[in-house]
Amino acid sequence: MQSQGNDDEDLRLLNNSVYIGLGSNMGNRFAHIEKAISDIKHGLQTEILAVSSIYETSPVGVENQPDFLNCVCLLKTTLEPRQILNKLLEIEKSHGRSCSSMNLPRTLDLDILLYGELALNEPGLIVPHPRVTERAFVLIPLAEISPNLTHNLWERTVTEILESSTFTDKVEKVDNVRWN
Ligand code: ADP
Ligand code: MG
Repeated sequence: MQSQGNDDEDLRLLNNSVYIGLGSNMGNRFAHIEKAISDIKHGLQTEILAVSSIYETSPVGVENQPDFLNCVCLLKTTLEPRQILNKLLEIEKSHGRSCSSMNLPRTLDLDILLYGELALNEPGLIVPHPRVTERAFVLIPLAEISPNLTHNLWERTVTEILESSTFTDKVEKVDNVRWN
């Protein structure tokens, strides 16, 4: 996405609510999640507007892995999606995440879940994150902080999606994030 640099475009970028998903199933999971919130705030030079509780969740789509801790946070930023992704990848790396394979435990996983109403499908960057609506461990914390959140592609709120789904995976609230 290219910014045209005019006032309307800047305002549109400024007003976008960006939801980031955080996950960790390796090392000191709480420490990774809490530090990551602060890293996001400083790395993206923004205020964090809301953070969900932390949930302990069973890994989805992989076998024989430790449980994850997951949460989501909300922020507003003037950065474009690709800039945000690059910052998030840097932060993942600084937490010792060496491998990007989906099938291995990770110290920290950071995903752009939503960027306002933007719909983007580029190499290495899909927004909304394509698996948001299939993952209870994302929908539950999203619905906690923004129950009426929706996107043009979904036509329903996160709460409605949750209510009409039958998820069997474990998603248990375990703690609040100390983030400010
Ligand atoms: P997942 O988070 O679905 O388990 P991975 O974290 O293993 O998958 O995938 C990492 C890669 O996914 C990143 O290198 C990035 O290029 C790509 N990717 C595509 N869309 C997004 C997005 N919305 N947020 C974060 N990463 C994304
Ligand atoms: Mg990821």
